[in-house]
Amino acid sequence: MGRQFTVQRGATRVVFGAGASADVAAEIDRLGARRALFVCTPRREESAKALAARVGPERAAVVAIAREHVPADVVSEARAAVEAAKADLVVALGGGSAIGLAKALALGAAVRVAAIPTTYSGSEVTAVYGITEAGKKTTGKDERVRPALVVYDPDLTAGLPRDATIASLWNAMAHAAEALWVPAIERADRLAALGAEEALRILAESAARLASRIDDAAARESALEGAYLAGAAFSDVGGGLHHRLCHVLGGAFGAPHAETHAVLLPHVARFYREAPRAAAIARALFALDPSRGLFALARATSAPSSLAAIGVPKDGVARVVDEVLASPPPSPRPLDRDALVDLLERAWSGPKARGAPPPLRAPPPLRAPPSIATHAGLFGPHQSEALAGALPAAQNAPRRAPYGLYPELLSGTPFTVKSAESSRVWMYRVRPSFAHGAFASLPRGLFGAELGDASPTRARWRPLPIPEAPAEVDFLDGLVTLGGAGDPSSGGPGYAVHLYAANAGMRDRAFADADGDLLLVPQHGALDCRTELGWLRVPPGSIAIIPRGLKVAVGAPDGAARGWVLEVLGRRLRLPERGPIGSNGLADARHFLAPAAAFEDRLCPDGFQIVHKLGGRLYAATQEHSPFDVVAWHGNHAPFSYDLALFNAMGSVSWDHPDPSILTVLTAPLDDHGRSIADFVVFPGRWEVTEHSFRPPFMHRNSASEINVVIETPAAGHGYDAGCTFLSPLLTAHGVATHTYDQIFARPGDAPDPPHRIPDASLWAMFESALPFRATAWAAASPLVDRDFLRHFEGARSYFDPSRR
Ligand code: NAD
Repeated sequence: MGRQFTVQRGATRVVFGAGASADVAAEIDRLGARRALFVCTPRREESAKALAARVGPERAAVVAIAREHVPADVVSEARAAVEAAKADLVVALGGGSAIGLAKALALGAAVRVAAIPTTYSGSEVTAVYGITEAGKKTTGKDERVRPALVVYDPDLTAGLPRDATIASLWNAMAHAAEALWVPAIERADRLAALGAEEALRILAESAARLASRIDDAAARESALEGAYLAGAAFSDVGGGLHHRLCHVLGGAFGAPHAETHAVLLPHVARFYREAPRAAAIARALFALDPSRGLFALARATSAPSSLAAIGVPKDGVARVVDEVLASPPPSPRPLDRDALVDLLERAWSGPKARGAPPPLRAPPPLRAPPSIATHAGLFGPHQSEALAGALPAAQNAPRRAPYGLYPELLSGTPFTVKSAESSRVWMYRVRPSFAHGAFASLPRGLFGAELGDASPTRARWRPLPIPEAPAEVDFLDGLVTLGGAGDPSSGGPGYAVHLYAANAGMRDRAFADADGDLLLVPQHGALDCRTELGWLRVPPGSIAIIPRGLKVAVGAPDGAARGWVLEVLGRRLRLPERGPIGSNGLADARHFLAPAAAFEDRLCPDGFQIVHKLGGRLYAATQEHSPFDVVAWHGNHAPFSYDLALFNAMGSVSWDHPDPSILTVLTAPLDDHGRSIADFVVFPGRWEVTEHSFRPPFMHRNSASEINVVIETPAAGHGYDAGCTFLSPLLTAHGVATHTYDQIFARPGDAPDPPHRIPDASLWAMFESALPFRATAWAAASPLVDRDFLRHFEGARSYFDPSRR
């Protein structure tokens, strides 16, 4: 059985559940109504008659004349029917048109309203009415029109055709989204904001599911519940610019209501990208950028994409703007003429609008070529040309560079650092990289979320679920910040650990992190990294370094990708000093691979999005060409990949366990005293040969925050599954589980210690920092937090016996 609930929400009794409409007669009795007039559109007449028959011919009549936008003459005709039927209740069966007619009747006569919605318009839970007369739709709010009863029966929505379903779901999503950006949300209780965010999440998911399978009954049920929640939140806080635009367009040009919502919503979301609660919209859509998330959903649901296509004349834009500005709706940002004209012109043209950032036409998928050329050696310096002679031979910035290319210098370190630390690259590109539109800040979402307090409590997180079709989540949208330390707004030092899960490549979108270097650690599915300097392929078991400021687009060639990202603020990642180990062992600089130059000379009239991270915040700008147009480059500020199987592990060959620092692959030093902002440490397959020793690491408290990750394991157990992450905070005691201690203590002290091979199919890694780990709110409250983790360390027995040494 699906969802069933009954609730009295203010003046409205809400009955929800498949088959609920069968009890309509009992519900009408419960209201104490004597005679009911069912109103519907002509297409719903038969269904209305069937329901009226359940109530009884002497107590129910039907009038099937409802039309969209509630024309005044239809209201007059229906009013006559109310009088003829001596009705004291008008029951609307259908969408917003039928409900709108019932509401209009309640305004002028002593009748109450009941609604049995068959679309997702949400009108049934609002006290908002609208009537159209002489090309002008007048809307208002009046408690008399609020339905006393709403019966939600998902079975009744099964026949709603695909296009009407999708458009109506956009109407519902608009209620949720608008509720989140109207200023009144700041004065409402938290229920409205929580309900709106949850509604948007449910609606977006149902819309994607119904777009791929229209007869998905479970998706229909969630869609109807989402529409209810969205309508309720909207009813609590009222409408704003988006609804005003839709109503003006409907009244002036007869633009179909639900379709108008679908066209406008991503554009209005772009307009309100910096509204205080835009992050909630982004979260609900699993997107960094709410507008881009909505454009992607519009594409996935094949929603109408231009006002032109739904019959709005181009010269109508000015008229709409005049009408809106004559009595401006409440808005979190000023409504100026130019901005509104720009918004409507983009919506009118649809995806072809000049500079429209997120295209509705799918851009080409991100795919690396089958074979990728590389240059061996960490930090080179390297030089690379995709066209022979593209690198200027004698100087870096000749007046005219070969092939008419633009030289550009990217300095990854300040100019005057020690030359051993200097990191920079000269690029020779087809178009200048400053040729993009203005940056707009993106809402603070899960990626880049603020850090909370450091806690000494150990924690473990289950693997981040990989998104499933029809949802399309790319690497960037799939990033979630777990925690870290330091302040990116002051340049660090610090670090952040992020998780990612994606099922799609970044399409016409690149990311550059001005805050720090990125270390990508895939656990599931390879990553194809297209960087300005060329391609890198990074399968699980290998890592990639993306230096600060360099643009990258990440593809998921296996259709599913999950892993971790370490972000280092303030210092660069480099190989550790080997000290007494000498000059060999651990990671070898020659095994790090830089990409060979590979470019595309491609215009992107639908817009290429650049997402830029600076001072801990994310910003987006749009440009009309691919940024991956570097034909040749030279320098050391390059991305690198590294196969962890090439790591030469070191260890004890006598007794006792060495510190994990002996397995450091890369480090970012904090100072000259051996403290690190972050080390990347790997525990690969290797021999374990110590004798008369406690072979797993003994219990310890380290001057380090340790964020451990399981990349691969031959024997998942006790929750240490591949993809999980666990934290041992700075100086908190930790070690192996109680039962492992018991097993080891049960062995005789002189039991033989044969060499033991830790299999190659075991690959654990660790991000280790001398700084505390401050978790984000998401990390603290996520459903992925493994509540059973600490139980593994309970119940330790005392083996102390003063009589036995
Ligand atoms: P609608 O009511 O006009 O329905 C669209 C079409 O679908 C109609 O022809 C209808 O007969 C048909 N239909 C409805 N349910 C069906 C089903 N289950 N199976 C097959 N066909 C079905 O459209 P709508 O989008 O629901 O409502 C739009 C109207 O509602 C607009 O006038 C709008 O202004 C108003 N509205 C008002 C509010 C409010 O709070 N007052 C909120 C949203 C919408």
